[in-house]
Amino acid sequence: MEHFNIDKRLLEAAAKAEQLASDNFRKISETAEYNGQKVLSAFINNRIAEMHLKGTTGYGYNDDGRDKLDAVYAEVFGCEDALVRHSFVNGTHALSTALFGILRPGDTLLCVTGAPYDTLTEVISGDSGGSLKEFGVKYRCVELLPDGAPDIEGIKKAATECKIAYIQRSRGYSLRPSLTIAKIEEIIKAVKSVNQAAVVMVDNCYGEFAEKKEPTEVGADLIVGSLIKNPGGAVARTGGYIAGRRDLVELSAYRLTTVGTGKEVGCSLDENRNMFLGFFLAPQIVESALKTSVFACAFFKLLGYEVFPDANDERTDIIAALKLGTPEALCAFCKGIQGGSPVDSFAAPEPWDMPGYDSKVIMAAGAFTMGASVELSADAPLREPYAVWLQGGITYPSGKAGILLAAQSMLDSGNLKL
Ligand SMILES: *Cc1c(COP(=O)(O)O)cnc(C)c1O
Repeated sequence: MEHFNIDKRLLEAAAKAEQLASDNFRKISETAEYNGQKVLSAFINNRIAEMHLKGTTGYGYNDDGRDKLDAVYAEVFGCEDALVRHSFVNGTHALSTALFGILRPGDTLLCVTGAPYDTLTEVISGDSGGSLKEFGVKYRCVELLPDGAPDIEGIKKAATECKIAYIQRSRGYSLRPSLTIAKIEEIIKAVKSVNQAAVVMVDNCYGEFAEKKEPTEVGADLIVGSLIKNPGGAVARTGGYIAGRRDLVELSAYRLTTVGTGKEVGCSLDENRNMFLGFFLAPQIVESALKTSVFACAFFKLLGYEVFPDANDERTDIIAALKLGTPEALCAFCKGIQGGSPVDSFAAPEPWDMPGYDSKVIMAAGAFTMGASVELSADAPLREPYAVWLQGGITYPSGKAGILLAAQSMLDSGNLKL
C-alpha cells in the first residue's frame, strides 16, 4: 500500500482480515474458474465469430450478433432462451417488461420474499401512469419471517392462486439475508408443489456468477437482471436481460418491442462487442467484487462493527452492509470510497434528498460507467440502522484500497476508534 497513506494499525487489521477470509477467497476463485469455463464453452458451442461483434442499424433484421448473444446467455443460464438488449434502460425496466409481458387483467402477482425492490412499487401498485394495478392485476405479498428467512409454509398457502410467484434473490437495501440458490430451489419446490402452473420469476440482480448455478438451473421459469451489474462485466455500457422459458421470453419481447415482431427487431448499434466481452469477463469481475465484499466484512468486523453477511458466510451476491452507527461515520466512509475511485476521486459526496427515499442518502461512486454498481460503490440512507450498502470492485487490489481509504477517512475524521 505504499502509494497510499494508511495508518499502520489499519494495515495490520487488513492483513489479518485477509487471513480470516482466505477460505472464502479460495471458494470464490474456484467458482469463478468454473463459471469462466462455462462461459467460454458457450462461446465455442455457439460458434461466436468476429462478425457477431459488429453491430446493425435501423430495424435490426437478421442481427446475428444479437441472436447469438441471446443463445450464449441461454446456454450459460441453463435455459431455453434469453432477451439481452442494450435498450433495457436498467434492471427495473427489464423486470417491468417481463411482468407486463406475462400478466393479464385478473391475474395475481405474488411476491413470496417480502416487498420487492423499491423501484418496483410504482410499477406494481401505482395509482396512475399505467401500473399493473390500473390494468387489473392483483398483488399480494408473503412477508419474510422475523429472522429474514422465507416463510415456506406461508408461501405454500398463498401460492395456490397466482400467475407469477416472484422471488428477489438479493437483500436490496435491507439487512435480510440474500437467498442462496439452495434456498431459492426450496422456495420454487414449495410453490410448484401447490401450483404447478405458477410462473416462478426471480429478480437475479447482483447474483449472477456468485454461485455455480443460476435460479433457472434449479427450476425458475424466468430470471431478470441488469447489465451494469454482474453480467455486463463492467464493459456493457447499459442494458438488461430476461432469460428462461421460451414462451415467457417471447411474451417479454412482445412487450419490449411489439406483439408479433418480438425478438426479430431491435438493432444492436455498436453494443454487441461490449456485451459479449463483458459477459466473457463477468465471472472474473464478480470474483473481484466478491473478494472485495468479503474483505470489507472481515476487516470491519475486526474493527468492531456488525457486518452483513458475516465474513465467512457463503456468498450468493456481491452486496455487503456495514452497520457504522452514526450519520457522520457513514459520510466519512463514503468520502473515503469516493476518494479511492479511479474516476472522479476528487469529488466530495454529499447527502441529498433522493426521490423515493424518506431520508437523505449519501452515495459514493467513481465509475467508468455512470451508476454501474458492479464497480466499487457505496450508498447509505441517513437513518436507523445507519448502515452503508457496499458493492462492486472490478479488481481486488483497487477494491481493497477503496475499503482501506474508507476506514482511513473515518479515522481521520474521528469516527473510528482503534
Ligand atoms: C439494482 C436492483 C434492481 C434494479 O435496479 P435498477 O437501478 O433499475 O437497475 C432490482 N432489484 C434489485 C434487488 C436490485 O439490486
